[in-house]
Amino acid sequence: MSRPAVARIHLDNIVANYLLAKSVCPAATQALAVVKADAYGHGAVVVAKALAEHVPAFAVACIEEALELRAAGIDKPIVLLEGFFTPDELPIMAEQNFWTAVHSQFQIEQIAAAELKAPIPVWVKVDSGMHRLGFAPELAGQACKDLQALDNVASVTMMTHFANADVTDPAGIDVEQQMKRVALAAEGLDIGFSVANSAALLTAPQTRLDWVRPGIILYGSSPLDQQTTESLQLKPGMTLETKVIATRVVEPGESVGYGSRFVADKPTLVGTIAMGYADGYPRQAVEGTPVAVDGKMTRVIGRVSMDMMTVDLTGIEGAGVGSRVELWGEQVDANLVAAHCDTISYHLFTGVTRRVPRDYNS
Ligand SMILES: *Cc1c(COP(=O)(O)O)cnc(C)c1O
Repeated sequence: MSRPAVARIHLDNIVANYLLAKSVCPAATQALAVVKADAYGHGAVVVAKALAEHVPAFAVACIEEALELRAAGIDKPIVLLEGFFTPDELPIMAEQNFWTAVHSQFQIEQIAAAELKAPIPVWVKVDSGMHRLGFAPELAGQACKDLQALDNVASVTMMTHFANADVTDPAGIDVEQQMKRVALAAEGLDIGFSVANSAALLTAPQTRLDWVRPGIILYGSSPLDQQTTESLQLKPGMTLETKVIATRVVEPGESVGYGSRFVADKPTLVGTIAMGYADGYPRQAVEGTPVAVDGKMTRVIGRVSMDMMTVDLTGIEGAGVGSRVELWGEQVDANLVAAHCDTISYHLFTGVTRRVPRDYNS
């Protein structure tokens, strides 16, 4: 009756992944749940509702995302990881119990000048080596002191973000070097700390501190280059699936799809499936990108087009129109697909478009 492309969202798995992330941290460490970018494409409101009873706070990128959660009745504190962009956000944050990252001097002046009905907790971002946002380590301590002195500030937490926590042998700055710069910034201060993303909280115990900020592991994907989703005992948060809508045998020498990228070298049973780059499946997928049909591993053949793509059904017993196709999820690790698309699982999840309905009942 309708197009079979669907993203099944496994809320129980997301909750289990959160509890796993929390279980590796000391009891005093608080784990907020990062649900920015529509909970990495899983649906922020539904995911936040499932996690609400377990988490002390949520984190999103910006006030628009935080307001969406409030409108849906989520009442936990929400940290805005990218901070505020314009000072008119400040009174709303004070009213709604949003906490904000502060990354630049001009924001301190804007907070000082604001008229707020309640003081706001702030997270001062230290640029410990990522060089995107934040105060230089030599200046961050003073920024914290200046903020602590303001009536509009309820509390100050120091935060930083790691450039290479996910790689075993980084080409650039490592976690240890970034931690040293945080320690320098924090000298003589009496404040809380939040530094760990998913990768750091799994691999670097010294980063767990007061607050950890797991994102990708909640959605069941390994952030580590040396570990799979399965070896970390994570469970997939999303299964992207569809069905075979047509089949044909393509003879040797004949090609499939745009650009004739795939050329058959033997009679090949081609399955056309209802999934394409307009659904968020990457057009970058190379020949042989893994996919599962009726539970059996097979491969993408030919270029991904906007609404359709083609997979190899040769030798899969019983495969035909109506066969279930899993693009990633329980059988196909999203990290493996990402590696064939020159990207990361974060990009796959956040890229699933509005055309694909999310099914929360499975
Ligand atoms: C997105 C984000 C996180 C979560 O990162 P993961 O790698 O998904 O765990 C943590 N901290 C900040 C500042 C972020 O922007």
